[in-house]
Amino acid sequence: MLIGLTGGIGSGKTTVSDLFAELGIKIIDTDVISQNLTAASGSAISLILENFGPQSIALDGSMDRKFMRTKVFNSSNERKKLESILHPLIREEAKRQIQNLDGPYSILAVPLMNKDSSWIRLCDRILLVDCPKEEQIRRVELRNGLGPTEIQKIINSQSSIRDKLSFADDVLFNYGEREYLKKEILRLHQIYLKLSGACSK
Ligand code: ATP
Repeated sequence: MLIGLTGGIGSGKTTVSDLFAELGIKIIDTDVISQNLTAASGSAISLILENFGPQSIALDGSMDRKFMRTKVFNSSNERKKLESILHPLIREEAKRQIQNLDGPYSILAVPLMNKDSSWIRLCDRILLVDCPKEEQIRRVELRNGLGPTEIQKIINSQSSIRDKLSFADDVLFNYGEREYLKKEILRLHQIYLKLSGACSK
């Protein structure tokens, strides 16, 4: 059984997937796949160079993230162009990893899922992580040192909570005590174990 894990920037997807991993659950993270594809000698590098020119590649041979972030932030055409390079490669690698999964259930973390996303069809169930917008901004400010306006812009570019709730099966409210989060994850873990047993019958 495959659980799709999604949520906005800073909502806590990595924190949540780390806690599932501690329970022995395998995690496929599309962010990690994307980082590998755009690392030095990653399979997306030659296409990025071809489409965005030498400035898009840093001295160490990886994608120049700062340059590309500015580029895609200022033009939706450039963003679409980068997505059209990365998305098929991410999907192909995620599918390869899915083929090799074992265990009762696994988690596929996809930050930018929306109701039309083809990732939904790959998953048996979707878990949405959410927290108040002010908390998202606070966490990302602390972690990335970005300003509130820039973070707000990123949040606005992601799908709305209303859209996400329309396809989520489970919602994990990640706000406050870590102990509360751990308890909620254990509760979901039990549910997923039961459901995966039901699925394999
Ligand atoms: P992104 O989409 O930006 O990669 P994410 O959804 O994976 O983010 P995390 O990286 O898990 O989110 O969390 C963002 C930041 O908030 C991290 O620094 C994390 O330690 C912190 N954080 C997560 N959950 C909580 C919580 N319940 N209380 C306090 N801080 C938290």
